[in-house]
Amino acid sequence: MGLWIYLNGRYVPEEEARISVFDHGFLYGDGVFEGIRAYRGRVFKLEEHLQRLYASAKAIALKIPLSKEEMKEKVLETLRKNRLKDAYIRLVVSRGKGDLGLDPLKCPHPEVIIIAHRISIYPEELYQKGMEVVIVSTRRNIPSALDPSIKSLNYLNNILAKIEANSKGVPEAIMLNNDGYVAECTGDNIFIVKDGTLITPPVWVGILRGITRDVVIHLAQEEKIPVREEVFTPAELYASDECFLTGTAAEIVPVTRVDGRVIGKGEIGEVTKKLMGKFRQLAHSEGTPIYES
Ligand code: PMP
Repeated sequence: MGLWIYLNGRYVPEEEARISVFDHGFLYGDGVFEGIRAYRGRVFKLEEHLQRLYASAKAIALKIPLSKEEMKEKVLETLRKNRLKDAYIRLVVSRGKGDLGLDPLKCPHPEVIIIAHRISIYPEELYQKGMEVVIVSTRRNIPSALDPSIKSLNYLNNILAKIEANSKGVPEAIMLNNDGYVAECTGDNIFIVKDGTLITPPVWVGILRGITRDVVIHLAQEEKIPVREEVFTPAELYASDECFLTGTAAEIVPVTRVDGRVIGKGEIGEVTKKLMGKFRQLAHSEGTPIYES
């Protein structure tokens, strides 16, 4: 059986879930979105994802036609309607239907779409052996032009980087900011470990403030692992002891090779292993219940 999609207040079968060709999300990438996970009947960090969605919408002057509380209920309802316990939830708010011009004032009705689907993740082997990635030439958007902390529907910057990764035959690309510091990946944040200290680029270098990134920083602090939000260069990345990526879909993925350089001992490091374990434990044990117990 197909999926039920939440589309502007109604649930419709996926093949009937359609938007207008005049929708500015489609025409211009004008809108915002979130990717959220549910584990074992609970939605992980739902509040945090909704906060980021509403903050992103505010940054692009998009008024979401539901309150945060209503949106939360709709997310849970979509999961119930599709009888899902473990899922990936895609929440999209587009500027809505307008004319062929750019002007958002011509789009009076933003569209809200919620898709809840079974999760498809990287193959298990990557979590055991580590991933190979490359640094690509496409620089992350500069914050003064389009701030990467806004999770907008306009992902062409990231897609161009992904195309470079594809052409090199690796699953992810590391993007630098315009000054040449390591920023983030196309859909994940990045961490390195050097001499026992966990280091991740600060938000001001021009990255999305990942929810998983925040969780990992918090878990490291709990484990008394020193954490610093600090810029680092490709050379410092190559010379790091451990490296991993974080994201809602990917969780924590170890990286063992960057641009052909072996990271650390070329296997999953101790800090990475510990955080992967702690993260799984947390994600499987807390969250907003989908079904009343
Ligand atoms: N950076 C980018 C560009 C992303 O798109 C994402 C996730 N979609 C992330 C980082 C990771 O964020 P989160 O942990 O909130 O999923």
